[in-house]
Amino acid sequence: MAIKIKVLGSGSGGNCTLVDTGRTRVLIDAARLGQRYITARLSETGVDIKEIDAIFATHMHGDHVDSGVTYPICRKHDIPLFVHEGSFADLVRRSSRFLELERAGLVRKFRTERFVFNGLTISPFEVSHGSGGWNADIVGRPVGFRMSLFDGPRETVFSYSTDLGQVTPEIEQAMAGADAVVIECNHDVESEKKSSRPRFLVEWVLGPRGHLSNDQSAKALANIIKFGRGRTRHAVLAHLSEDCNTPVLAMSAVRRELDRNDICNVNIDIALQREPSAEIII
Ligand SMILES: [Zn+2]
Ligand SMILES: [Zn+2]
Repeated sequence: MAIKIKVLGSGSGGNCTLVDTGRTRVLIDAARLGQRYITARLSETGVDIKEIDAIFATHMHGDHVDSGVTYPICRKHDIPLFVHEGSFADLVRRSSRFLELERAGLVRKFRTERFVFNGLTISPFEVSHGSGGWNADIVGRPVGFRMSLFDGPRETVFSYSTDLGQVTPEIEQAMAGADAVVIECNHDVESEKKSSRPRFLVEWVLGPRGHLSNDQSAKALANIIKFGRGRTRHAVLAHLSEDCNTPVLAMSAVRRELDRNDICNVNIDIALQREPSAEIII
């Protein structure tokens, strides 16, 4: 048994990642990119959107869950949306259409503890992201996911985390030991500081509840690989800022840090806003 992973698109213009075990096919987030885009990218990888068994939401920002793409996909194809129980009230406040989804029996709540869905073991872990200071935005309880597939004694593991302002040792441990990792590489700090964005936005992005810089992500990835004793063979850099980052800056920051830690044999890929990552099979 294996897990196939493909980031279909990632960034502030929408996020969606396929996790496919053959028996179970789930999406992590599915927003803003458009139903047509998501359906077409799934089809390219051999998956009919009707075969999706669930959508797991990381948090409630509109580039991850929205009423214009996520909810219609769930309604049209009878796909349950899994949300952290701490996000439920925020989802209701954000859009009344969420209640329609709930009334249709398509909302499932999870806690920050391990559970099994269709043979896929899912361990959500909390991350620091969202409201604070000027930003009273409604994001619910942001999480990353560790997903495991057990085949006898063999465990295949995938870890996913985008949208977090800082990485703690607990998060690194939660993601460690994964065969494949998706981690955000949001911005280059100097580009962010020099950008014409409003100052409050820049401060939020750079702060502990904003997004990870290339250097923060690179250090976290090196620690995740070391904690996992080098098991990680694939990493995808995601959620790159289109204004304050480039694939070259993100890739070079990560390569530099992995070289510094004598880490080799890890395939590094990048997922862009409308350019999927390569398909990873672990
Ligand atoms: Zn986001
Ligand atoms: Zn976010």
